[in-house]
Amino acid sequence: MATETTTFEIRKTTQSRIAEVDFSNLVFGRSFSDHMLVAKYENGQWGKTEIVPYGNLSLSPATAALHYGQTIFEGMKAYKNDEGEVLLFRPFDNWKRFNLSAQRMCMPTVPEEIFIGGLQELIRLDSDWVPTGAGQSLYIRPYMFSADEYIGVKPSDSYYLIIFTCPVGNYYSKPVKVRVETEYIRAAEGGVGAAKCGGNYGGSLYPAKLAQQDGYDQLIWTDAKEHKYIEESGTMNIMFVIDGKLVTPAVSSSILDGVTRKSIVAVAEYWNIPVEERRVSVAEIMDAVKAGKLDAAFGAGTAAVVSPFSHISFEGVDYALPELNDASFPVRVKEFLEKLRTGKTEDIFGWTLKV
Ligand SMILES: *Cc1c(COP(=O)(O)O)cnc(C)c1O
Repeated sequence: MATETTTFEIRKTTQSRIAEVDFSNLVFGRSFSDHMLVAKYENGQWGKTEIVPYGNLSLSPATAALHYGQTIFEGMKAYKNDEGEVLLFRPFDNWKRFNLSAQRMCMPTVPEEIFIGGLQELIRLDSDWVPTGAGQSLYIRPYMFSADEYIGVKPSDSYYLIIFTCPVGNYYSKPVKVRVETEYIRAAEGGVGAAKCGGNYGGSLYPAKLAQQDGYDQLIWTDAKEHKYIEESGTMNIMFVIDGKLVTPAVSSSILDGVTRKSIVAVAEYWNIPVEERRVSVAEIMDAVKAGKLDAAFGAGTAAVVSPFSHISFEGVDYALPELNDASFPVRVKEFLEKLRTGKTEDIFGWTLKV
């Protein structure tokens, strides 16, 4: 067992806040479970890992991360099955991606004992916080930031790793209107788009705000060089169902390798649906829309799982997509993944890990 080699210092809360939470009205990312994991890296190694009551941090105003953004994160979910056991969905994929992000940002990698072992320990302690209503789960937020008190630009010598959790409900409710962005970019080839680092999201807010002012919920990002190829949608991967085929941009240095994306690809292949992972041009998608061959388009990510689009806007024209029904691929795959994550269907892929 991973947890046997690391000891976690656990300080339990004396005053659980769980009774204050309205579990029938969970707002995404606003309620925080009782405990958090805190580990500090200094002098070339990870020190003791503590699990303590969720609470504020005390930091120097000179903390490096606050100035130059050497900070990365992950997002994953835990679910309860009908027996009340807690299941994590593909946590090793998040751990590996966290370490890839860490390498790209000159940060130390985190050993399995701390990331996976610590996560399990934390969730065992707060298992009452894993909600069981339809579409509900425990969202898990591991993150790391540079902690040196120093305002020179260089990789920090010290880091904090923190993991906290939030009970959440469904993220999006209705299909969203998206606009193809052809001026601003999220990420460029050779940049940090494939890393889950803080700055990617800070930089995406302004173009998203402009789209929202024009009545769109979200953006479709295009490539940085020509704005001809589709990359992602908002903070999600993007997928299309064209003529019965699942088409999605191949991952690259400017596209994040999403766990939801690769899970949907695997499920589609298992269902014998042809899958194409390749460059996808805006022109091809707009032609498919106009020819009535675009069956569905959607974002894919841990928070919403699947977020279908109702309209795609390009060059000032809004194109309506077909309405979805229970037989539509995004609806079916979302339901299948939810069943798999909650242990209601056999885990044929071996994706779940019992806490
Ligand atoms: C997190 C994220 C995704 C989705 O990844 P999942 O592992 O499926 O949650 C896609 N794109 C971006 C930019 C992301 O930050």
